[in-house]
Amino acid sequence: MNLILIGPPGAGKGTQAKQIESTHGIVQLSTGDMLRAAVKAGTEVGKRAELIMKKGELVPDEVVIGIISDRIDQPDCHHGFILDGFPRTLPQAAALDDMLRAKSKKLDVVIELKVDPKLLVERIVGRYTCAKCGEGYHDVFKKPEKSGVCDVCSSTEFARRPDDNAETMNTRLMAYYRDTSPLIGYYFCKGNLRTVDGMVAIDQVERAIEKHLVEARG
Ligand code: ADP
Ligand code: AMP
Repeated sequence: MNLILIGPPGAGKGTQAKQIESTHGIVQLSTGDMLRAAVKAGTEVGKRAELIMKKGELVPDEVVIGIISDRIDQPDCHHGFILDGFPRTLPQAAALDDMLRAKSKKLDVVIELKVDPKLLVERIVGRYTCAKCGEGYHDVFKKPEKSGVCDVCSSTEFARRPDDNAETMNTRLMAYYRDTSPLIGYYFCKGNLRTVDGMVAIDQVERAIEKHLVEARG
């Protein structure tokens, strides 16, 4: 099964992608994570993307299209993938259609996580991850069971993203509503859009998504 999770920054895409990964055995493809890895490794792509990401703007289409096209060919994607943070523009969506056609793959469902913009800043500013295994947490909404210790790998080191601040958030939200939100109409017209309320508790969102995945799988 191949699916897209779409929604503004902080909507819960990464959180839900991890859950779907473990339930359905399909792989999460987050362009944000891939770009952050490229920045850390100091590759050409990373150098090109670093400042743009820090400002909260979008990296050029051809960069992310290239990354995803290569990644989808990897063997771990053969059982299916969850696109998290891609596509983010209409040209990226068109390129995805072309590459899936060329690779004889199809998109099963697009899940929109709908969240009131007023909630997003609080979600983003409180977000942090385990520095070792990447498990996601939140200062208020998803604390580790034992304070300061990762539930998954017991590491005591955590990290916050440099772009997760109230100032950059405005640029990121603007990019979402200007460049990404037209994709909601695009996928609605194609008939594979399903909308889920992203403002309820994490496990409730999980259950709502699961219903759509079961239906999409037939
Ligand atoms: P995205 O990948 O869409 O940017 P994340 O999945 O990283 O968003 O979620 C942003 C933050 O909000 C994280 O700290 C996460 O723990 C928290 N979060 C995710 N979903 C919910 C939810 N339904 N209710 C409350 N907090 C949530
Ligand atoms: P995310 O982790 O999805 O919040 O993405 C972090 C940042 O990476 C974004 O603010 C963009 O600068 C960049 N980025 C990630 N995915 C894309 C994409 N599909 N198109 C353009 N820029 C992207």
